[in-house]
Amino acid sequence: MLIASNIWKIFYLILLSGTFLVLTLLYVNYNEINDRYHIQIQHYTELLSKSVNSDFLQKDMVLGIIGKQLFKNNNYKDIQKSKLILDDLLKQNPYLVSFGLADVNGNVILSSSNIKINPNKNLLIDAVTSNDFKESLISENMVVAKTYYFKTIKEWIIPLRKAIRDKNGNVLGVVIAGIKNTNKGHYLDTLELSKNITIEITKDFDSNKKVYRQYYTNHENISYEELYNDHIPDKAVQSVNSGLQKKYNYSFDKLRKNAKTLTIEATNPLEKNMIFSITYDSRYHLWITVQVSKLEVMYEFYYNALLYLILFTIISLAFYVLFYNISTSEKRKNKELVFQAQHDTLTNLPNRTYMYTNIKEWKKTHAQKYYVLFLDLDNFKNINDKFGHTIGDKILVEVAQRLEKFFNVGDMLVRQGGDEFIVLKEGIEEKELELQVQEVIQIVSKTYHVNSKEFRVGVSLGIAQYPIDALSIEELLSLSDTAMYEAKKHKNSYCLFSEKMRHSSVVKSDIEQELRGAIENNELWMAYQPQINSDGSLYGVEALIRWENEKLGFVGPDKFIPVAEETGLMKELGEFIIYSSLRDIKNIRDELDLSFNLSINISVVQLMEADFLSNLLKAVEIENFTRTCLTLEITESLSIESLDDVLPLLDDIQEYGIQISLDDFGTGYSSLSILRDLPINELKIDKSFIDKILYDESEKALVQSIINIGKNFNMKTLAEGVESDEQIKVLKAAHCDIFQGYYYSKPLSKENLIEFLNKEII
Ligand code: C2E
Ligand code: CA
Ligand code: CA
Repeated sequence: MLIASNIWKIFYLILLSGTFLVLTLLYVNYNEINDRYHIQIQHYTELLSKSVNSDFLQKDMVLGIIGKQLFKNNNYKDIQKSKLILDDLLKQNPYLVSFGLADVNGNVILSSSNIKINPNKNLLIDAVTSNDFKESLISENMVVAKTYYFKTIKEWIIPLRKAIRDKNGNVLGVVIAGIKNTNKGHYLDTLELSKNITIEITKDFDSNKKVYRQYYTNHENISYEELYNDHIPDKAVQSVNSGLQKKYNYSFDKLRKNAKTLTIEATNPLEKNMIFSITYDSRYHLWITVQVSKLEVMYEFYYNALLYLILFTIISLAFYVLFYNISTSEKRKNKELVFQAQHDTLTNLPNRTYMYTNIKEWKKTHAQKYYVLFLDLDNFKNINDKFGHTIGDKILVEVAQRLEKFFNVGDMLVRQGGDEFIVLKEGIEEKELELQVQEVIQIVSKTYHVNSKEFRVGVSLGIAQYPIDALSIEELLSLSDTAMYEAKKHKNSYCLFSEKMRHSSVVKSDIEQELRGAIENNELWMAYQPQINSDGSLYGVEALIRWENEKLGFVGPDKFIPVAEETGLMKELGEFIIYSSLRDIKNIRDELDLSFNLSINISVVQLMEADFLSNLLKAVEIENFTRTCLTLEITESLSIESLDDVLPLLDDIQEYGIQISLDDFGTGYSSLSILRDLPINELKIDKSFIDKILYDESEKALVQSIINIGKNFNMKTLAEGVESDEQIKVLKAAHCDIFQGYYYSKPLSKENLIEFLNKEII
C-alpha cells in the first residue's frame, strides 16, 4: 500500500513538472513567434522603403528627362510630336496611366493622348491638386501628390509632379504623371508579401496635422473613398505615436530626422492590434509602414499550443497507464503476499492465521450464535504411511474441494493442519445443523480416485456452540476438539459438545479402557533421552514412556500417566517401566561397554505403594543393574503433607546407593527449604525457566540461585529442555552440571539410542 501511494505521488509530481514544462515551453514559444514576426515585419519595411525610394527616384529622373526634352527648343509647342513622346513613354511604363505638362500657373498644356485636357481645370486652383502643385513649384525633387480619383480615366491614381527649371532655376513648367493605384497588378505586389501583411504608405502630416494614405494593400475591401479621401483617424496615429514613445522614446519628428526603421505594436483604424513597422522617406516625405495583425502571431501560437497540449495529454496518459499498472501490480502483489500468509499452500484454504485475523470481522455478522466444527479425517495416517504423501496430499486437496463446495460463503472453512479442518458455521437451528453435518460426512466418505486407485476416508466431527458452550474462540476450538475425540470412538460420525465432556472424562475413560490392554498388546515402549555433562561427555539417559494405540493414536505420557494413577493401573505400568528400562540400559551398557546413568520417572502413586522399594530392589537384582547408576526422578509437586510420608522411604532408597532427583524443580508448591530436609542428589531445573533465561534477566537470576543452592547442598544441577547453543552457554557460565534437551537429542528408541551413543559419544 505504501509503495502504491508513493507511486501516485511520483505521478502527480511528474504531471506537475510536466505542466510547468509545457507552460514554460509555451511562453518561450510565444515570445519566439512574436519576435520572429517583429523581425520579419521590420525586414519587409526596410526592403519596401528601399524599393519605393528607388522606384520614385527612377520616376523622378524619367519625369526630369521628359520635361527637359519637352522644353528643349520649345518642343512642347509641337503638340503632335510631344504627344507621341508622352504616349511612347506611357507604353514603356505600364504602371503609369497618364502624362502631361502644366504651365507655372497650373494650366495643363499637354497630355498623353489617352487624356482629354479639361480646359476648365487648373491644378493651382483645384482644391484637390492645389497644395501638391504649389509644393512641386518649390521642390527640387519630384513631388508624390495625394492619391485621388481621376475622373477622366476613371482610375485612382498617385499623381507625380516634377518642376522643370531653366539654367537660372526658374520654373518652366511641371511634368505631371499618374501611377495606377489599384490592389491588383500594382508594382508593389512584386514584393510578394504574404496576404496577411499590409503595406501602408502615407504622405507626411499636412498643414492640418492630418495623414492621408498614398497606398494601401486593401485586404479588407475598404472603399477607395474611405481609404484615400479620408485622413487616417487620429486615434490610430496616436496609437503609433505612443507605441514609438514607449518602446523607443521616439517621436515622429525624431524618426523623420533619423533614417531608421522601428517596429512596435499599435492598433490600426479598425482597432485591430497590429505589429507595426515604420520608416520615413525624407526625399518624398512618405511614411512607409508594413503591418501584420497580432492575430497571426496568436494563430500560430494557438496551433503550437494545441500540438503541445495534445502531446502532453498523450504522454500524461501513457504515464497514467504505466503508473496505474505499477500500482495495481503492487496492490496485487501485496494481496498475494497477504493471501499466501493466510492460506494453506496445499489446499488453498484459509489457514489459522486467516481465521484469527478475520474472526473479529466474521463474528460481527454472527454475533448471536455460531458453531465451531472440528473435522478430523479417519485413518488418514494409514493412507499416508501406506501410499505416500503425494497421494495423501491429493486426497487432502480433494477433501478440501468437497468441503469448500458444501459450505456457504458465510461459513469460514479453515485448514487447521494435517488432516484437520475447522469450520465456523453460521448459527442455524440445531436440527438443520445435524442434517448438514451428516451430509458432510457422506460427501467426505465418498470414494476418491487418485492415480487410478480408489481410496476411502472417513471424517469425525466435533461441534461446539457459541455462546452456550464457551465465549472465546480458543475455548470453542478446544471443546470442539474434545467432541471430535468422542466422535472418533465411532468413526465417520459427529458429536455435539456436551457438559459431560467438559473435563474430558470421556477421553479419560477411553484412555483407561485402552490402557488396560496396552502392556499385553505391546503398545508401550521406553524412549531414552541423553543427559550430557558440561564437558560434553555422556552422563546418562532419562527413560520416558511411549504409547501408541490403534484407536487413540499416539497418546502422550502426561495424558495417560495421570489416568493410570487415578485408575489403579500405575502399579502395573510402573513395573513395566522399571523392568523395561533397566533391561534396555543394562543391555546397552554391556553391548557398548559404556557406563552411564539411568533416570526413571517415579510417580507419587508408585512411591506410596508399600512394597515399592522391595520391588524395585528385586527388579534391580533380576536385571543385574548397578544400583549406583540408577536415579529416581520424583516430581517436586509432591504435596507437603505427603513429604513426611515419603521421607523415610527416600532415605532408605539412598541407603542402597540409588539416587534421588527432584524433577520439575521450581514449579511446585515447595519452598527452597524442603531441599534441606529431603535426601536429594540432583535438582532438575524445569524447562519453563530454561525457556526464559535468554531474555528474562530475573528468570536467569533465579536459575543462577537454584544452581547456587544446589551446590550448597551438594546436589548436581540438571537443566532440562535445553534447545539452543545460547542457553547452554548461559547455563555453563552459571555452572550448571548436566544438560538434557532437544539441543542434544529428542527421546530415542533403544535402537536409536545405540546409534546416538555410537555416533556422538564413543
Ligand atoms: P518430564 O519428566 O519433565 O520429562 C521431560 C519431558 O520434556 C519429556 O516429555 C521430554 O520429551 C520433553 N523434553 C525433553 N527435552 C525437551 C526439549 O528440549 N524441548 C521440549 N519441548 N521438550 C523436551 P514427555 O516424554 O512427553 O513426558 C512428559 C512427562 O510425562 C514427563 O515430564 C513425565 O512427568 C511424564 N512421564 C514420562 N515418562 C514417564 C514414566 O516413565 N513414568 C512416569 N511416572 N512419568 C513419566
Ligand atoms: Ca522426568
Ligand atoms: Ca521435568
